[in-house]
Amino acid sequence: MYKEDTIAAIATPVGEGGVAIVRVSGPDAERIASAVFVRSQGKNGKLKSHMLYHGAIRDPLTHGVLDEVLLTIMRKPRSYTGEDVVEIHCHGGVFLVRQVLGLILAQGARHAEPGEFTKRAFLNGRVDLTQAEAVLDLIRARTDKGIELAQRQAEGWLSTWVRELREELLNILVQIEAAIDFPEEEVELLQRSELADKIDDLRKKIVDLGHTYEWGRLLREGARVCISGRPNVGKSSLLNALLGEERVIVTPVPGTTRDVIEESINLRGLSVVLWDTAGIRNTNDEVEKIGVDLSRQHLEKADAILAVLDGSAPLTGEDRAILKLCHGKKAIIVINKSDLTPFIDVDEIVRLVPEGEVLNVSAKTKDGLDRLRFSLRKLILGSSIEAPLILTNVRHKSALLRSEDALGRSMVALSGNHAPEFVAVDLNEAREGLEEVIGVINNEDILERIFSNFCIGK
Ligand code: GDP
Repeated sequence: MYKEDTIAAIATPVGEGGVAIVRVSGPDAERIASAVFVRSQGKNGKLKSHMLYHGAIRDPLTHGVLDEVLLTIMRKPRSYTGEDVVEIHCHGGVFLVRQVLGLILAQGARHAEPGEFTKRAFLNGRVDLTQAEAVLDLIRARTDKGIELAQRQAEGWLSTWVRELREELLNILVQIEAAIDFPEEEVELLQRSELADKIDDLRKKIVDLGHTYEWGRLLREGARVCISGRPNVGKSSLLNALLGEERVIVTPVPGTTRDVIEESINLRGLSVVLWDTAGIRNTNDEVEKIGVDLSRQHLEKADAILAVLDGSAPLTGEDRAILKLCHGKKAIIVINKSDLTPFIDVDEIVRLVPEGEVLNVSAKTKDGLDRLRFSLRKLILGSSIEAPLILTNVRHKSALLRSEDALGRSMVALSGNHAPEFVAVDLNEAREGLEEVIGVINNEDILERIFSNFCIGK
């Protein structure tokens, strides 16, 4: 599983920049560094760990100098990977950095696979699996809230929680196993119900955390909101108003927005992708038909819908059709053009979508937009209970679900007076589920899958 070789990669994004970093990790890192690096002013001697040295990268064969660099050695175990790590900070030219990496590879390092540095950190016990995954989340975070969640996970909040739960579970398991080892000490009825209560407490904790998953997903990945409405009600204008700039073409000719336009806004830490779609009308125009189909698909996929109506005109059949599509979904009915004389029948709207919130706005004067932003965030996230611990990762979610199910089964076995062996089987499965979250995993495939999501150099 763990190849004891030396790996290297460019750790910064490809492209021109002030600085680019080449990272080397493994038993040969220091030897390779000394082969390609010469210190300035002819200084030599052993480099100290965790110090930054000025010098040049030189091709050991041609003696040609490639670049002026800063180099640091972080000797094991106090490094990101837990191995000897060398980082070379060179100038950020695409070709230049590749040449520096090329020299290092020529010295015998192997090009790292995606996530291999973090995988080594995990395999060397520098971080557990939730923390390693948090590194990826940090890199990918799109909002300050996403960063905060990833940071908490990187600090080990989730692992601590899981470890505590595992301890409690082990305490229960000990009692069940004692009953297996000493069959004469029958698990008494009273004891059984006490144990079942304790297991139920554990199960409830997992269920509660499970409920934060949808929230976590939304905060991490962002929510998708579909702006829907017949042509000319002001969807594009509303999108522009929410974005605060003129991005989408606004015209008085119905049906201009044929493709789905995608823009992002940030609602107090919640990243929202807004889809401005064509209307959902019946049309014979082939191109427009494609747009209408796309609108329907986006409507289905969206986490919430903004159904836009023109408040200065009576409801049309098309408006009613869109309102019907909002049934059973998270939707806000946005009555636009509130700056004009109202003509729309609000009572009919409420009859058609009793559960939807109805808001009056004007994309033109920006009236009601703050209220709309507030309501949209609330609609997506539900009541804003700021749980300290939020589940963001689908792998954690499914492992915890496994534990939750197994705990449920063990309670049934306990109350059904089944032999303690059966209870132990379920409790052990619950324990495995918890261990899977923090990374007591012996399955190479799963590890490969997790770390291959990382970028190279991380
Ligand atoms: P879409 O087809 O639904 O995307 O509608 P547009 O955003 O292209 O707007 C259609 C027309 O309505 C344009 O002439 C806009 O200037 C106008 N419009 C949009 N919002 C408002 C508003 O709040 N008040 C007024 N008076 N006109 C608006």
